Amino acid sequence: MTTQPRPVYVIGAGPGGLAAAAALRARGVRAVVVEKSDGVGASWRRHYDRLRLHTTRRLSALPGLPMPRRFGRWVSRDDVVRYLEKYAEFHELELVTGVEVTRIEPATSGPEGESGNGAGGGNGDGDGDGDGWILHASGGRELAAAAVVIATGYNHTLALPDWPGRDTYEGRLLHAREYRNPQPYAGQDVLVVGVGNTGAEIAVDLVEGGAARVRLAVRTAPHIMRRSTAGWPAQRSGILVRRLPARLVDRLGALVAKASVPDLSAYGLPRPTTGLYSRVKQGSIPVQDVGLIDAVRGGTVEPVAAVEAFDGAEVVLADGSRITPDAVIAATGYRRALEGLVGHLGVLDERGRPRTHGARTPEQAPGLYFTGFSNPISGMFREMALDAEKIAKAVARRAAKGAA
Ligand SMILES: Cc1cc2nc3c(=O)[nH]c(=O)nc-3n(C[C@H](O)[C@H](O)[C@H](O)COP(=O)(O)OP(=O)(O)OC[C@H]3O[C@@H](n4cnc5c(N)ncnc54)[C@H](O)[C@@H]3O)c2cc1C
Repeated sequence: MTTQPRPVYVIGAGPGGLAAAAALRARGVRAVVVEKSDGVGASWRRHYDRLRLHTTRRLSALPGLPMPRRFGRWVSRDDVVRYLEKYAEFHELELVTGVEVTRIEPATSGPEGESGNGAGGGNGDGDGDGDGWILHASGGRELAAAAVVIATGYNHTLALPDWPGRDTYEGRLLHAREYRNPQPYAGQDVLVVGVGNTGAEIAVDLVEGGAARVRLAVRTAPHIMRRSTAGWPAQRSGILVRRLPARLVDRLGALVAKASVPDLSAYGLPRPTTGLYSRVKQGSIPVQDVGLIDAVRGGTVEPVAAVEAFDGAEVVLADGSRITPDAVIAATGYRRALEGLVGHLGVLDERGRPRTHGARTPEQAPGLYFTGFSNPISGMFREMALDAEKIAKAVARRAAKGAA
C-alpha cells in the first residue's frame, strides 16, 4: 500500500508564504499554502488606494518570476496584487483558501496512513524534524504536516493604543488599515497619529485630496529619507550597509540626512536623537519621503505633539493642548499576534516575535520555519525572497537526510 506523504504546510498566502511555497516546489517538495481569506495577497488588497512599493520593482521580485517592466519602478498596490495572483498561477501553487490555522502542535506520532514524510521521505526518527506537526484549523480540521512555514505577516493585527477615554471618544476614530482614500475627508479637519511610512503618506494623501486641515501627531521624531537620490534608490543603500556595525551606519545616516533632508525643526519635526540603524534594529524603519517634507514646509501638514488621551469630543495632546478634529486616523502599527498559534511552543521572544527566522528552526521545534517577521532596511519583499530559498534548501536537506 502506498502512503500519501505529508506535505509542508505554509500558513499565509502573502508574498512571504507564496515565495516559500514556490521555492519548496522548485526543490521537489510538496507545499500546501493555507490562507484564511479567499485569495492571495489579502493584506495588499486591503491597503489604501495610493500605496506603491517604496522598494524597487527589481528588488521586490519573488523567486522565479520577475515583475513586469510595465509596472514601473515603484509598483502600485493593484499591480502588487496582480503580481501575487500571477505568481501563484505561474508556479502552480497548491492553495487552500478560507481556512484559518488556529494552533500548531507537535505530532506525537504520525497519524494512521500518514507515516511518510512529505518533505521527501523519512519517518521522523533521523531527519531532525521529530514527528512533524498537526495544524488545527477552522472547521475542526487537523492537518498533518512534515514541516510548517509560518508566513502570517508582520502586520497581522492592528494595534490601537489604549488611550484613556478612547472608548468614549465622541469623534470618529479609525485605524490606518481602514483608510482607503481621502474622499470622505474632503473639507474636514483630520488628525493622523503616528509618523511611520503609513502615517506620513496618509497625511499627504489627505492634503492632496482636499482635507481642510491635516495635523500629524508625532511621539518620536522619525528618520526621513529620500526614496531615491539622483536615480539611486534608498533601498540599495540599505542593502549595502545592512551588515555594517549599527554605530557606523548611524553616523553615515546622519551625514546623508543632513545633506539631503532639510531641517524641519522650525515646523515641529526635529531631527531624531537616536541613530537611523539603531532605530531600525528596534523595529522602526525610516520614513521614505513621498511628499511629507514639502507638505510640512508648506504648512499643509502640521506636526503636533503625541496623543495622550481622549476626553469627550476632544483629543488631548502631550503638550497639554486640546483639539477637536473631525476624524482621527491612527497609523499606530500592527502586532504579530502569533501567541495563539505558537505561543505555547516557547518559540517567541518577550515581544511576541519568533526567536528564529529563515532557515533556522527553534531547537525545541524542529521543522517550524518563520518568514516575514523582521522589518529590514533592505526591504521585506527582498528578504522574504531570500528567506524562501534558504527555507526550501533547509527543508530539502533535512528530507534528504531522512530519506538516506
Ligand atoms: C502599508 C505597507 C507598505 C509596505 N510597503 C513595502 C514595500 O514597499 N516594500 C517591501 O519590501 N515591503 C513593504 N511592506 C512590508 C511587507 O513587505 C508587506 O507587509 C508584505 O505584505 C508582508 O508579506 P507577508 O507574506 O509576510 O504577510 P502578509 O502579506 O500580511 O500575508 C499574510 C497572509 O497570511 C494570512 N493569514 C494570517 N494568519 C493566518 C492564519 N492563522 N491562517 C491562515 N492564514 C493566515 C493573511 O490573511 C495574509 O494573507 C509594506 C507593509 C505595509 C503595511
